[in-house]
Amino acid sequence: MDSNEFRTAAHRLIDYTINYNDTIRDRRPMPEVEPGYMRPLLPSSAPETPDSFDEIMADVEKIIMPGMTHWNSPNFHAYYPLGSSYTSNLADILIGALNCVGFTWTSSPACTELEVIMMDWLAKLLGLPSHFLSSEEGPGGGVIQGTASEATIVAVLAAKERTLRRLDDNGSGTHNKHQNMHRLVSYTSEESHCNVVRSSLIASVLMRSLPVDDKFALRGSTLKDAIEQDLKDGLVPFAVVATLGTTQTCAFDNLQEISDVLSKHPDIWLHVDAAYAGAAYVCEEHRGTMKGIERADSFSFNPHKWLLVTFDCSAMWIRNTGEVVNAFMVDPLYFRPEHHMNKDAPDYRHWQMATSRKFRSLKLWFVMRLHGKRGLQEHIRRQIGLAKEFEELVRSDQRFEVVAPVTMGLVCIRLKVTDHGDLNDLNDRLHKQINATGAIHLLPSQSAGLSYIRVGVGSRFTESSDMIFAWKEIQKQATAVLMAAAE
Ligand code: PLP
Repeated sequence: MDSNEFRTAAHRLIDYTINYNDTIRDRRPMPEVEPGYMRPLLPSSAPETPDSFDEIMADVEKIIMPGMTHWNSPNFHAYYPLGSSYTSNLADILIGALNCVGFTWTSSPACTELEVIMMDWLAKLLGLPSHFLSSEEGPGGGVIQGTASEATIVAVLAAKERTLRRLDDNGSGTHNKHQNMHRLVSYTSEESHCNVVRSSLIASVLMRSLPVDDKFALRGSTLKDAIEQDLKDGLVPFAVVATLGTTQTCAFDNLQEISDVLSKHPDIWLHVDAAYAGAAYVCEEHRGTMKGIERADSFSFNPHKWLLVTFDCSAMWIRNTGEVVNAFMVDPLYFRPEHHMNKDAPDYRHWQMATSRKFRSLKLWFVMRLHGKRGLQEHIRRQIGLAKEFEELVRSDQRFEVVAPVTMGLVCIRLKVTDHGDLNDLNDRLHKQINATGAIHLLPSQSAGLSYIRVGVGSRFTESSDMIFAWKEIQKQATAVLMAAAE
C-alpha cells in the first residue's frame, strides 16, 4: 500500500468509524453468534495474492460485526464503561504511525518524557497528594500500565520485595528469604476485584479477603483485628489493597479508617485500586471518598474506563518508585542507559512487568488538551446525573429496590416482591429474560448472598432517553417474570 492508497483507505475507515458510532443504537448490544462461528467464514490460510481493502471492509461488516459486543452502545449496561472518544481515536492513529517502543528513555525520549509529565497533569487533575508527583522533591512518580490488574500486581510484588529486604536487613539472612515469604500476609475486601486475589497468587503470598459492612465497604476495625491476630500468630502483614469503587456495587472502602489503622504499621504497603471511580476525582465534589489517600504507597485508576481514553491506559502512581525498581530491575548491557537516569528520564521498563511499551501518554495528552478539565468534569457529572435519574425511576416502582448507594454511574437493582418464591431465583430469571430479548444488556451479580442486577451508564453516547428505554425494558420483563411466577 503506497501513501495515496493509504490516504484513500484511511478516509474510508474514518467514515466507517463515524457511521458505526452514529448508528450504534441500531445494532444489538450483544452478538447472537455461537462459539466457533467464525471459522467457516474464513479461509483456512492466508491469501497467496493480496486481497483488496474493499474486500476486507466488506468482510468487516459480514464476518466481524456479527460477532461484536458493542461496548460503546448506550444499550450496553454491563461491566463498567470502556473509554472512548474521537479525541483518543486520533491519538491512537498517531501512536500507530509513530510506532515506537519506549522501554528505556533512549529508546524514545519523547515517549518517556511525555508520560512523566502527563502523569503529573493527571495527578493534579484528580487532586492526588504531591508525594505522587515527579515534579516534586522525593522519589514519587507515575507510570501508565496496561490494566488495573497489572498495577495491583506491580504494587503487591514491590511490597513483597520491600518487606523481604527489610526482614533480611533485620538480620534474618538471605537464606531465610524462602521461609520469610511464607510468613507474609496481605489483605483486601471480599468485594474487591478478583484480580486482587490473583495478584497474591502471582506473588505466591497469602491474601485474606475480609468481610465488608452493610454498604459493602471494608472498615478500619475489620482490618485492625485481622492484622493484630496475624501478628500474634507470627505472620508478617505486608500489604493492603483497598478499593475505591468496587466492581460489583461501586462501594468505597473506608480509606480514612484504613489509613488510620495503617499509621501504626508503617511497613505495610497500601495500594488503592480506583479502577473505575477514580475518574470521578476530576470533580472536586466527589473527592470525599479519597480521604486518607496521603497514606497510600500506590494508587491506580483506569482512564480507559471512565475518562474517555481508549483501551489500554491504566494510570498508576507510586510514592517511592525506587521500591518498584528494586522489585523489577534486571540490567543487561544492551539496555544499560547511556544517559543520567533522573526523574524526567526514567527507564520505565523497571516500573512494569513487560519490557516493551507503547506511546500511550499521547492519548492522555490529546484527551486532556482537547476536552480540558471542564470537559472531563462535564462528562463525569452528566453520567452520574443519568444514573441518578435511573435510580429515581427504580425507586418509583414498588416492586424494586436499589441495593447499594448510587454515587457514580452504576445502579444495582433487585426485585423485592416476596410472594413469588425465592427472591434470588426470581432476580436471576429476570436478568436472563432481559438479556435474552437483546434490546439491552446487563450483568447479574451477588453480594452478601443477594442476587441483583447491575445497570451501568456505559457509553459516552448515553442520553436520558436511553436510560428510560432500559428501564421500560426492565419493567416489561419484570411483569412477565412475575406473571409467570404467579401461575
Ligand atoms: N479493579 C476494579 C475495581 C474494577 O472494577 C476492575 C474492572 O472492572 C478492575 C480492577 C480490573 O481492571 P483491568 O481490566 O484494567 O485490569
